[in-house]
Amino acid sequence: MKVELQNLTKIFPSRNKKSSEEVVAVNNFTFTIPDGSLVGLLGPSGCGKSTTLYMISGLQRPTSGKIFFGDEDVTDLSPENRGIGLVFQNYALYPHLTVKQNILFPLQNLRGKDKMTKEQMLERALQAAKLVQIDELMERKPSELSGGQQQRVAIARALVKMPRVLLLDEPLSNLDARLRLQTREEIRRIQKETGITTVFVTHDQEEAMSISDMIVVMKLGVVQQVGKPQEIYDDPTNLFVAKFLGTPPINVFSGRVENGMLYIGDDAVLAVKGVEDQNVTVAVRPEGFTLDENGALHCKLSNVEVMGRDVSVVSSHEAAITPIIRSIIDADNRVDTTSATVNYSLKPHKVFLFDAEKEERIYFEV
Ligand code: ADP
Ligand code: MG
Repeated sequence: MKVELQNLTKIFPSRNKKSSEEVVAVNNFTFTIPDGSLVGLLGPSGCGKSTTLYMISGLQRPTSGKIFFGDEDVTDLSPENRGIGLVFQNYALYPHLTVKQNILFPLQNLRGKDKMTKEQMLERALQAAKLVQIDELMERKPSELSGGQQQRVAIARALVKMPRVLLLDEPLSNLDARLRLQTREEIRRIQKETGITTVFVTHDQEEAMSISDMIVVMKLGVVQQVGKPQEIYDDPTNLFVAKFLGTPPINVFSGRVENGMLYIGDDAVLAVKGVEDQNVTVAVRPEGFTLDENGALHCKLSNVEVMGRDVSVVSSHEAAITPIIRSIIDADNRVDTTSATVNYSLKPHKVFLFDAEKEERIYFEV
């Protein structure tokens, strides 16, 4: 099911009686979620991810704008009539019901033409339980399950009605690191197996990058960039997006362009054709540095961390904005740890320039 968001806006009135300032939680969001895809809604806390999800679900009404499921305008439909499955961060299972009863619950409330026989319901529940691999646990109570298992039950409960759209709001946040990894792969597998159009909300860029077909990066209610994870990583539209994606994070410097040459401090690091003379913000991915005795970027060496396949070199530079510069170098390269300095040349496609004030991307020719 294709989901279309048209100029979706949500404004909340001020919570504080003294100030009249309203909150624009979501600002003019237009996007088409392709049928059968998994879209990651990504951004820092408070940027409007949940509000967007709740509008898609029908739990919240947009202040303006429209939502379509396929060709059907669902903007005024109640959540029950939209055919959605919802999973929250806290699993919200009924504690007094068994796993089976929890999964059956949404089916028991079906009325009219959708009403199912007991056998049909049991079959459907078992099918959903198998999909998330908890069919062995059907008679347990939620308190007898691990966090990861509880979240699987919640997902099974969301899937049992065979929703047109699956909506997940930070579903992995309450799980420990190992389970988080495992469960996110499970979600991806289930999504691929069922082909259900899915919106996955997270503030964790790595999580979004690893499972999404498409990512929508948001900031303060405004969509910053939409694209495939790798595309956004390789081609961020502004400094916010460049900084939000990637671990270790991107390294940021203040710089300037003079006569087609990019300077970081006094170091003439890269020829950048087609850019007017101006102050710029320079961002370099950790993998964008090459160890080079004759390299133009002169940094002060602080520390070398060996991480198996790679070496992480920590250094500093007087023009750096980020507190440290962290480069990732292939472990075959030897870093002279006794040296006080480390010199780098830069890989042009890993270097991004931004307007020093507006923080919008400035493109250059290599
Ligand atoms: P996220 O899920 O990205 O953390 P939310 O969508 O929950 O962000 O919130 C976006 C903004 O809207 C925040 O500034 C938040 O404080 C505000 N907000 C969310 N829900 C309400 C509400 N019911 N009333 C007033 N403000 C709200
Ligand atoms: Mg939220």
